[in-house]
Amino acid sequence: MRRKTNPEAIAPYLKDASNCPPGAASEVVIPETVEELKAFLKENTQPVTVSGAGTGLTASRVPVEGIIVSMERFKKIGDVDEGTIFVEPAVTLEDLNVHLKGSGWFYPPNPTETLASIGGTLATNASGSRSYKFGVTRDYVQELDILLADGRSAHLRRGQTIDRPLELDDGTQLELPAVEYRSPQIKNAAGYFYRPGMDWIDLFVGSDGTLCLITGVRLKLRKAPFEFLSGILFMDSEEKCWNLVEAIRKESSEVIDPCSLEYFDRPSLIRLKKKFQNVPDKAEAALFFEQDVTNEEEFESSLEAWYEFLESQDVLLEDSWFAQGPKDIARFHDFRHQVPLILNEENSRMGRVKMGTDMAVDDDHFLEMMRFYRVELEESEIDYAMFGHIGDNHLHINLLPDKYQIDQARALYGRIVDQILEWGGTVSAEHGVGKLKKAYYHQMVGKETLDQLRTLKNRLDIRNLLGRGNLL
Ligand SMILES: Cc1cc2nc3c(=O)[nH]c(=O)nc-3n(C[C@H](O)[C@H](O)[C@H](O)COP(=O)(O)OP(=O)(O)OC[C@H]3O[C@@H](n4cnc5c(N)ncnc54)[C@H](O)[C@@H]3O)c2cc1C
Repeated sequence: MRRKTNPEAIAPYLKDASNCPPGAASEVVIPETVEELKAFLKENTQPVTVSGAGTGLTASRVPVEGIIVSMERFKKIGDVDEGTIFVEPAVTLEDLNVHLKGSGWFYPPNPTETLASIGGTLATNASGSRSYKFGVTRDYVQELDILLADGRSAHLRRGQTIDRPLELDDGTQLELPAVEYRSPQIKNAAGYFYRPGMDWIDLFVGSDGTLCLITGVRLKLRKAPFEFLSGILFMDSEEKCWNLVEAIRKESSEVIDPCSLEYFDRPSLIRLKKKFQNVPDKAEAALFFEQDVTNEEEFESSLEAWYEFLESQDVLLEDSWFAQGPKDIARFHDFRHQVPLILNEENSRMGRVKMGTDMAVDDDHFLEMMRFYRVELEESEIDYAMFGHIGDNHLHINLLPDKYQIDQARALYGRIVDQILEWGGTVSAEHGVGKLKKAYYHQMVGKETLDQLRTLKNRLDIRNLLGRGNLL
């Protein structure tokens, strides 16, 4: 086991991609094997922050005190076995995608940041553009290997429900306390997942580094599609784009059945135009769609169906882009991925604070939410860009205040939270809560639930060592 104590060696582990100030830790511990990590945890008395790849956006791997356990040596990937694959936590999404290339299988959850580690994506229950159809990380976890903070381990399988105690390797059993909270029935990554009769796996996935250390996972895969049919559709008004999303949902059939629906507003397109010059000047909004098809015949019929459908919609068809092959598909994904990258780069260059929303509501509140966003953003005079998973009613608004507008931006953020919660929505649909969204999460679940969740956490991490400062 390697141990780093030199401040220069520790520094890269004290931050993530959230732009929040660096944290503090006395040491980074880098175990090579599960046995080694287990033995270490049994003796350890210090607070532990688990480190993945550091691409998180909520400061959840940024330590407030104690030591860091970096999982970076756990990089093994197994062979595909009956549509599943065993993966260690430091394997990145990119590693996994490369490993699966040509195997006939694919792993659908695709947070746009492919440098994220599998362990980090499990801890945050990450999702991405294709989650619109294929679901979130939790849906793809078949088996899970965990260590509790005190070094006890468990191997969890689907079907092991919380109605029965958690069986640990040393023969002890753990029961969950009564929890009245129920996770909302929308895309949600805020706090512990809780539903009566759920599997134990579902509790640990999305636990934001606070309940366990993930040491291995068996992931479910899907048969790789023959191809993705995809396009970027431009519109001369935002409202037309929102209506198109509604129309696609209504139309939903075997031939119009997208797996991704991603939104770009005018401020996002203006920024993208610097890298992608053929973004049409008159475009006020754009929609990236993608649909998986199983063979060439289906590709042709779906393409025809999309053209026919789009002709009846208010789309700038002549100016829109349709992928002609894998290179275009990769380019469209890059187009989408570039938005947060450009904004992050702009923020660092200008020394600006980023306030990014990650909220979602149900389908019934979609149009109301979009209109509310527009009114609030236009009235605020703060620079912003809005983009993301519109199919899931899940947009990222990046508020980009100058140094005199920070309080105003905080107040706006607060008003958006209040409204989203009034509609029964969530304050985090994919990035998790970490440290940055804690106050909003507390508002979302309320004091009574928080007390119950603290009792739950205490049952699994008696000395409250894991993920200090996150979530609770
Ligand atoms: C440009 C950009 C775009 C992004 N787009 C998306 C997106 O579309 N969808 C999305 O969901 N996210 C997105 N993210 C956020 C980020 O990629 C995800 O949150 C990702 O899941 C974090 O993984 P990581 O390995 O970097 O985790 P880290 O940042 O290292 O850690 C995140 C949390 O996971 C915990 N953790 C890490 N490994 C383990 C482990 N083995 N056991 C227990 N806990 C562990 C940490 O303690 C911490 O609490 C984006 C980020 C960037 C920078």
